[in-house]
Amino acid sequence: MSELRQNFATKEWVVIATERARRPEEMANRRERKVVAPFVASCPFCPGNEKLTPPEVLRIPTSTDVPWHARVFPNKFAALLRDVQPTRTVHRSRRSVNGFGVHDVIVETPDHAQVMALMPDSYVAEILRIYKTRYDEISLDPRIALITIFKNHGADAGTSLEHPHSQLIATPVISLQVRERFQQALRHYDDYGECMFCQMLGEELEEQTRIVAVSEHFVVLEPYASSAPFSTHIYPRRHMASFGDVSGSEINDLARMLRSTLAQLYHGLADPDFNFTIRSAPAESVGVKYFHWYLSVIPRLTRVAGFELGSGMFINTVLPEAAAEFLRKVDVDALSNAACAKV
Ligand SMILES: [Zn+2]
Ligand SMILES: [Zn+2]
Repeated sequence: MSELRQNFATKEWVVIATERARRPEEMANRRERKVVAPFVASCPFCPGNEKLTPPEVLRIPTSTDVPWHARVFPNKFAALLRDVQPTRTVHRSRRSVNGFGVHDVIVETPDHAQVMALMPDSYVAEILRIYKTRYDEISLDPRIALITIFKNHGADAGTSLEHPHSQLIATPVISLQVRERFQQALRHYDDYGECMFCQMLGEELEEQTRIVAVSEHFVVLEPYASSAPFSTHIYPRRHMASFGDVSGSEINDLARMLRSTLAQLYHGLADPDFNFTIRSAPAESVGVKYFHWYLSVIPRLTRVAGFELGSGMFINTVLPEAAAEFLRKVDVDALSNAACAKV
């Protein structure tokens, strides 16, 4: 029988449609992936085309005498700009703030054909350290309220440029969705005196059925009321409200866990399109006891349709417990070693 499940953190309901349940392997991406060259002369993110992008705000390594591993620059077509002052206008029923904000592009590698799922862990750690450097720097700007870091992989995930990159958008306002999640977490803390995410993690670790992997500092799991097949969360085991609180050794561990999660999806579901995003406390709420940051990976295997748009409720056709079991069985290390042996 199908089941309606409530998301503990958001209180949103999800239909887990086991009646029309699909086996996890049936969800694999069926589109032929085209062969991508490691260098594309017309790509603005490929080495040699640096002049086609706005000036860098960060480059790894910092010396311009050696080739770069990663670059950060403002989005050329930025939705929001940093060099304007945020001015709030309220006129009768209409309110607005002018287009102040930060919109960074993080080019993750000079290799046009590279995918994060197959990168060495140390490269992924370097990208995460860039996220943290930019997160820390932008958090200090008192005009910023919310920082969202995300990656879009593939056309169904909204990528407009093929070259591997991620983005950071910082806004002077907090979205209603984030505000409501925050208020749910605060309410739980007021009622029970503990972080709702720490409680949920403790229960999931006891039950084990939705756990994909556990490391020294992180837990990878399929949420109980997951709104989409294979939607996967990576939580720090230590209570931390903000991504900015993560330590150097935790970044290295997160890189391993993120890379292996992406590799399980890549090998298990034939390189599906996906988004990932870091959900962190708003800049004004660093260090609070009631919110817990996490990284959310959402493979784009299904489309949002009328019911979702009309009700705000999602239908998930893969049981989260079955998705976790499927991902646990994708032996990433064996597959990587086999790929190395072929080369
Ligand atoms: Zn490129
Ligand atoms: Zn917590």
